[in-house]
Amino acid sequence: MAGDMELTFLGTSSGGGPTRARNCSSLVCDLLRDGSLWMVDCAEGTIRQFQFQPQAYPNVKASKVTKLFITHMHADHIMGIITFLRSVLHPPPNGSWHILSNLDSHSIWCKVEIYGPAGLRSFVRQNFKMTFTHTADCYAVHELLTLKDQITPCNNPVPLQAGVPGTPVGFQDWNVMHQSEKCGRDIYPDEDNFWRGIATGEGRFGRIIVDAGPICHRDPCIGYAFRENAGPQRKIVILGDTSDPSAIVPLCIDPSPALLIHEATDAHIPYQVDVKLGRRDEEEVLSKTLSRGHSSPAMAGAFARLVDAQRLVLNHIGARFPGPTEDRSHRNWHLLSEIQDQASRAWGKGRQAKIAYDYMRIVIPGRDPDANELYLGRSGRYKGLSISESTSSYRHQASRYHQLDGDNSTDHRYR
Ligand SMILES: [Zn+2]
Ligand SMILES: [Zn+2]
Repeated sequence: MAGDMELTFLGTSSGGGPTRARNCSSLVCDLLRDGSLWMVDCAEGTIRQFQFQPQAYPNVKASKVTKLFITHMHADHIMGIITFLRSVLHPPPNGSWHILSNLDSHSIWCKVEIYGPAGLRSFVRQNFKMTFTHTADCYAVHELLTLKDQITPCNNPVPLQAGVPGTPVGFQDWNVMHQSEKCGRDIYPDEDNFWRGIATGEGRFGRIIVDAGPICHRDPCIGYAFRENAGPQRKIVILGDTSDPSAIVPLCIDPSPALLIHEATDAHIPYQVDVKLGRRDEEEVLSKTLSRGHSSPAMAGAFARLVDAQRLVLNHIGARFPGPTEDRSHRNWHLLSEIQDQASRAWGKGRQAKIAYDYMRIVIPGRDPDANELYLGRSGRYKGLSISESTSSYRHQASRYHQLDGDNSTDHRYR
């Protein structure tokens, strides 16, 4: 429906992946409902994940992505950026690559705006230069800096001589922009240590505002809060890798998130559930998880309880765990249910967390303008797949997912 927000997971594996069932991190948000998409993280293979979407529902298109939010600089979150940009910024018209330069246009328009931590601007810039990439459209990188971070300047390249292809300009100078680059903003946190209002867009009921805050991982990492400032005032919180996101709590309350996406990289699995994984000692699993800057399902559930999240999806799943598409053996379902249950118990109040899988789509209902009731007014089409659905219906959901090819079902959505 017009006011619904939709999220589509393109990759749900931790850095141990990709695996047969999961690509590494990326997800796409359709929040504005104006045809544009916002993406969070962009692992290697993300552009291919766009191609492999099931045909069962309208696919998300890479060319519609206008903003990309990067949680942190680990390889499993950023190595697809260059391929993604090459694809969506299009090659320049034949013979005119040398004309297309940020010097040739005074326009500040750029097709894709990228937000992320210090270093991201250099990463994209130097990769573009070193791969001799030329594009028709432009991008910009806005860095969310701390006071300790070094600024990456945006110095203009020397204009290329018309008709004379040459080596990439400013190849050695990291301060010189690529020709496809527009000058990005250096964004500093406010006194509460949050980057507020870094991006906005006009949504169905009001403005969508993006705030960001630091979360604890083994290297600098960011969580993003996308909030609606009118109407249902939905908020979606998407955390990067973390062993402790408590610093971002103020962005996650008043109102509480309609959806929280929290990593759950590793989990202790009881011997009764899985003989092989059950050999790992519980304390050992937890201490290893924490030492690598990650979370268990129970930690995700505890954070969901802390911020009173209405929905919880577990993401960034360790490569040792199966995905619903891997096979339909009993073992897999026991494992996935166990991970969900661990998070659900910590979340409390009988609420049921969900474990993400590639191409899972989540619908956060808005308001049907013709209906009187907020959040309702939807047909019963997806009713059996509510957030509180039982394990058995989750099995049903994923078994439907296996049949998606040529199937018109939209059962794998839930709200
Ligand atoms: Zn990761
Ligand atoms: Zn990481």
